[in-house]
Amino acid sequence: MFTDPEASLGFKYCSKSPDGKRYVQGYKTVTLSCARYDVALATITVTGRSSEPRVLKDLFHKAKAKFKWFAPETLIADAAYDAGHNYAFLLDEGVEPVINISDTPGGKLRDSIYTKDGIPTCMGQVPMEYVLTDPETGRHLYRCRQGGCERLDRIKGWSTCRDAHWEDPSEDPRLFGRKIRRGSPEFWEKYGMRGGIERVFAWWKDACNLERHRYRGLANISLHTPLTALAYEVKRLSVELFGKIRNPAG
Ligand SMILES: [Zn+2]
Repeated sequence: MFTDPEASLGFKYCSKSPDGKRYVQGYKTVTLSCARYDVALATITVTGRSSEPRVLKDLFHKAKAKFKWFAPETLIADAAYDAGHNYAFLLDEGVEPVINISDTPGGKLRDSIYTKDGIPTCMGQVPMEYVLTDPETGRHLYRCRQGGCERLDRIKGWSTCRDAHWEDPSEDPRLFGRKIRRGSPEFWEKYGMRGGIERVFAWWKDACNLERHRYRGLANISLHTPLTALAYEVKRLSVELFGKIRNPAG
């Protein structure tokens, strides 16, 4: 039985469950944190029903209002934030989005000749190989993988598919990335830094009872979250300054 009238039922994206969603009763905390130092810069707590992608802009403005120095080069987010308005907002702010694209069956985007890494497929429907980026125009060159692909081999006999294609990232920054090419080693290296926030969340939930909170109502939960973030930073700082503190009980 649910006893908090303000809490609501919603879902979050979860790659481990069969329908890609995990249902939650209660609240969701959305956090903007520094990926290098795992420091939370802004948090927003919403009821379970609210959709997360809508709050990215608010989080960004909250961090900007709090910290004069806040001017990130890159913003990393998972596929829940893969929405046109988020890309438009970030590009407008001069921030490079590194956002995982929403998954589709087969790894190919629906009704598209592109893979979810923004790679075009050739006439033989084989994902092309990235060749180079023109330093002047920023356009990327792709070609059918070396040796050509089988399908066109059959059609043209001895000839192989020699498809080559230029992509202009400015035409679709969501699909191709802007400065950081989607699917490039640099893209995945940056995206990998997002993992740090999961460790922070784990600590918040376990050590600070954020998952099994004892308060009711959005106002109380909204206070519990920044206090939790603060406690985490104090812990981080003390470890940094004094080293790990031995637990006297064990
Ligand atoms: Zn081909």
